[in-house]
Amino acid sequence: MMNNLNARLKKEIGNFSNRETIEKIIFDIVFKHVKDMLFIMKAEGKGQFRYLFANKVGIEKASLDAGCAGMLIQEVLPPEKADEIIYYYNQVIETGSIVSFKDNAAAMDGSTFFGESILTPVRDDSGEIQIIVSVTRDITETVHEKHALIESQERFRSIIDHNMDSIFSLDLKGSILSTNNSAYSTTGYTEKELQDSEIFLYWKDSDRQNFNNLFEQSIKGKALESSELAFTHKSGEKIQVHLRTIPIIISETVKGIYLIMRNISSQLHNIETIKYMAFHDQLTGLLNRPALIRDLDEMIAAERLQAKKEIAILSIDLDRFKLLNDSLGHNMGDILLRDFANRIAGIPGYDYRVYRQGGDEFTILIKNVNKAETEEFAGILFKLLKFPFVLNRQDYYISSSIGISMYPGDGFDSESLIRKADGALRQVKERGKSHYQFYSKEILLHQPNIVVMESNLRRAIDKRELTLYYQPQVNLLTNEIESLEALLRWHNPTLGYVSPAEFIPLAEDTALIVPIGEWVFEEVCRQMVEWDEKGLNELKVAINLSPKQFLQPQLVDKIKVTIEKYRIRPSRLEVEITEGAIQDISESLTIVKRLKEIGLSISVDDFGTGYSSLSYLKQFPLDTLKIDQSFVKEILSDQKDAAITTTIIHLAQSLGLEVIAEGVELPEQAGFLKDANCQKVQGFLYSRPLPPAEVEKLLNRTIAL
Ligand code: C2E
Ligand code: MG
Ligand code: MG
Repeated sequence: MMNNLNARLKKEIGNFSNRETIEKIIFDIVFKHVKDMLFIMKAEGKGQFRYLFANKVGIEKASLDAGCAGMLIQEVLPPEKADEIIYYYNQVIETGSIVSFKDNAAAMDGSTFFGESILTPVRDDSGEIQIIVSVTRDITETVHEKHALIESQERFRSIIDHNMDSIFSLDLKGSILSTNNSAYSTTGYTEKELQDSEIFLYWKDSDRQNFNNLFEQSIKGKALESSELAFTHKSGEKIQVHLRTIPIIISETVKGIYLIMRNISSQLHNIETIKYMAFHDQLTGLLNRPALIRDLDEMIAAERLQAKKEIAILSIDLDRFKLLNDSLGHNMGDILLRDFANRIAGIPGYDYRVYRQGGDEFTILIKNVNKAETEEFAGILFKLLKFPFVLNRQDYYISSSIGISMYPGDGFDSESLIRKADGALRQVKERGKSHYQFYSKEILLHQPNIVVMESNLRRAIDKRELTLYYQPQVNLLTNEIESLEALLRWHNPTLGYVSPAEFIPLAEDTALIVPIGEWVFEEVCRQMVEWDEKGLNELKVAINLSPKQFLQPQLVDKIKVTIEKYRIRPSRLEVEITEGAIQDISESLTIVKRLKEIGLSISVDDFGTGYSSLSYLKQFPLDTLKIDQSFVKEILSDQKDAAITTTIIHLAQSLGLEVIAEGVELPEQAGFLKDANCQKVQGFLYSRPLPPAEVEKLLNRTIAL
């Protein structure tokens, strides 16, 4: 191949004396040291190009062998490649000028080789293209680099475009060069509005200066973060944002910055809400128990540092709230608690805060008061409760009991001060409610502790401390005892006699009511069998079910098992439920229906105490209404109570229900009830609740009569 030289070249070199040597040197250089692929081709007409020369790189990279000298392209290369290459060679012939092109081919190692070729025509004296020189540069690396660059640019762009944060690319003057989608939704501005505008415009008031500072520092090369600034949305609304700046540094100079912005207003709002919820009672919006402890601790710490000042801790409980809540329903109960909270909130002249401990228990902390001033405050509270609470357009009167402890007299830490105020409150409740009491060591000595009571109550069944008394229910026309109401009694060696009004609510709160209730049922059945065996008249017995007990899922099944065990005729048993227990109609209706299916009678105890909707009377398969003793008590003196009692009797009769009036103590009351057509009565006038032995005596006497 080396011998077949282009004529012109030969001519140039031919002037030198050592021509051949020079020729050889030049070709040697070209052959060995030129890094580009070099092919010298003989142009014999369109489509006919014959290899004359190829340098070493060319031979290797194009995988040619020495035998290709003098061969046509199509004889050397595979047909497709040959066609492609010939096309460009033909162009050189057609245009008569240099042609360049890029192509790729499979390299020896299987990788793809990218080349950039320049085809240069070489003419003879007559201007005919005799030879075409092809120089091909290996641009594989450049192509790869370019691809990599494009790919990384695309990746970068997609990170920006799809980012949840708003990203602004800014120049050193603060002009916005580009943004992403999130920026439009966060700021309210369109791409067009943001493009080329100055970022500073979007920060108002003090945020403008703060943003400027952040920007100035960032263009000096500092990456910064801040959660303090608010961006002004297009609507004018300020949105709290988290900002991050990233200087764009190219060849050690800052060319601009990326500003990354996240809307954190909802996050902040959530944090605020969580904080608020942690220290507030959701129902009343008042501060809660954790807040009470926090504040009292803080107040004590502050007082210690200052001159000695007293703090009053008032523990407040609403009297009879549970009863009201049960009979009116929890919604009404909640409204009442809220109304109460509002009513006691704004007493002028005192520096105080109200907290809800839970249920109907509230605590008030009064700063900077002495005992006399605290007493005055309690007096104001009582006065505020003289006015009724209006629920469902009806008036309800609520009284409260207050126990008070004083810092520093009664203690130095929040825990013991609150405990002592609670202790004083319990004392108030025991002594008949509706007044206040300061804590004193003496009162706590003979105070039944709730915890002690609870642990005793837990053991009461096993220790056989519970008994049942029975109160006769008398037919007003015949004066005969027709039925009995079973009433629970608890005698404890340490606590003495504890009233059911006191321990039944405790049993309810601690779920002890479930085993106690089961015991009552079993005991009544056992007693009935005993009386039957003794030949006493078969009487009906009424058993009280408190609301929690009533809604207990296994209640009906357990009752059924007990009745079957003692073979008691179910119609001899009546269950007394309160209006509160049948608040949730869907659930309680199923239970009442199942009890009826077994064959039990159902009576509504304490009827008329507050609950205003009578629709349930129609829906529930009831048998008896028990007029609450509070109406009967005033029947002779209070026209309203007399009217209510007569109305209940009429109502019951028209619904085909039996009526029992409770708490009849005077013959005149019995007379009134008889005139009003009440069938049955129960009360001290006839008999107090009696132990079984006394009941037997009474019944025997009645039989004897
Ligand atoms: P209650 O079911 O309304 O029972 C009537 C209450 O009125 C009884 O109080 C009874 O002793 C009292 N009483 C009866 N006649 C008169 C009277 O003429 N004048 C006055 N002032 N009072 C009278 P007790 O025995 O203290 O029971 C209080 C409440 O405890 C009962 O009210 C009932 O709700 C509940 N209770 C009693 N035993 C049980 C029980 O076994 N289970 C459940 N869940 N609750 C019970
Ligand atoms: Mg009862
Ligand atoms: Mg009652």
